[in-house]
Amino acid sequence: MSVIDSFNMQSDFLSNPRVVENYAALMDTGVFQYIDYLNTEIRNYKNLLSSALNIFNRTSIDDILDFTVQQISDCFLPSFIGFLWRPYQNKEDITIKGYKNYKIADLGLRLESVTPFEVFFQQYGQPISYDELVVQMGNNGATQALQPISPALIIPILGPSGFYGMILVGRKILGGDYKPVELTFIQQLMSFVSLAIQHNLHYEYSLRDVKTGLYNYGFFITRLTEEIARVKRNDYTSSVIVIDVDFFKNFNDNYGHVAGDRVLENIAFMIKQGVRVDDVPSRFGGEEFTILLSNIDKETVWMVAERIRISIAKLKVPWEVPLPSVTISLGIFTFDGHIDITATEIVKRADMALYVSKDRGRNCTSLWEPGFRFSNGAY
Ligand code: GH3
Ligand code: MG
Ligand code: MG
Repeated sequence: MSVIDSFNMQSDFLSNPRVVENYAALMDTGVFQYIDYLNTEIRNYKNLLSSALNIFNRTSIDDILDFTVQQISDCFLPSFIGFLWRPYQNKEDITIKGYKNYKIADLGLRLESVTPFEVFFQQYGQPISYDELVVQMGNNGATQALQPISPALIIPILGPSGFYGMILVGRKILGGDYKPVELTFIQQLMSFVSLAIQHNLHYEYSLRDVKTGLYNYGFFITRLTEEIARVKRNDYTSSVIVIDVDFFKNFNDNYGHVAGDRVLENIAFMIKQGVRVDDVPSRFGGEEFTILLSNIDKETVWMVAERIRISIAKLKVPWEVPLPSVTISLGIFTFDGHIDITATEIVKRADMALYVSKDRGRNCTSLWEPGFRFSNGAY
């Protein structure tokens, strides 16, 4: 038996005659209490390690958060736990997810921007209570936004790309203030949670276009390739819509690229709004977009395309000067499991339909059909 095994089997060790003889003396030294303390520490670290492994094996941020809340709430019940992060790289958008009593809840947080916290935490770099935060940052708009919930603990999510967001933990419902050992547990657990969130965000960023937050071309082609196999297995019809902004060079020449970028972001938003969550709206490149719509018939995809076209034609993008509306042209290609076709060929055919829309005067939709007969709004 190794030394470690014999230590683990404390009862053997305690019944050793030499220990029994000197029991009182050992007791006086406090060695048994120390052993108890070490055992508790070992148990805590084992728990932490198994929680960390569990957190790293979660495949979505929502899953990570649900699990974390459950882990914390098993130890003590905070009045709330809040997570806020930037879902997209280089964007000001904030996603806030709050929990009360294990359940998702609105924490009533109205935060415009996390930039003031970013500036603060990049220097400060460690968890802080709300009261201390006010001392450090001053009573300004940013700290006031947190005032209604006054978190007992604010943990920054900091990583290789800087500041990603924050985790907010409320005071305990029962049992007064957090004990130092509890704070250590929360902070250690949260450092794993923060890494897991970053890991997940990096994965998400790698699938997305930085400017618009839509999926990127690589992800679109991967999903389209999977879809070609899926239509064969499931015997349904899917479609690709290709979108190109009309006369966008003129727009940039007249209003500048920065205004152009704002318009592209708004168009991307309308495209995302116009499709289902399982569809794959993507930025193909430049002022071109593609959408993969799974399991959808021709009539419906036509309707979706037209709805997007009309919503964009009506779109008013706020800017320093009034901007004219822009329009888009669309091409659709529909496929099922009965044809052998590659992802590139599908995009090419949807692109051919798009050129027909351009030829027909733009701001319209066309659908590729066999024999190059293009429909022009018949659906
Ligand atoms: P058409 O109706 O035939 O599509 O005309 P167009 O002017 O849109 O076509 P063209 O392909 O000649 O020009 C595309 C323009 O899109 C050129 C480029 O300045 C603009 N563009 C591409 N990517 C971006 C971008 O990320 N931001 C901005 N602001 N403009 C972009
Ligand atoms: Mg183009
Ligand atoms: Mg164009």
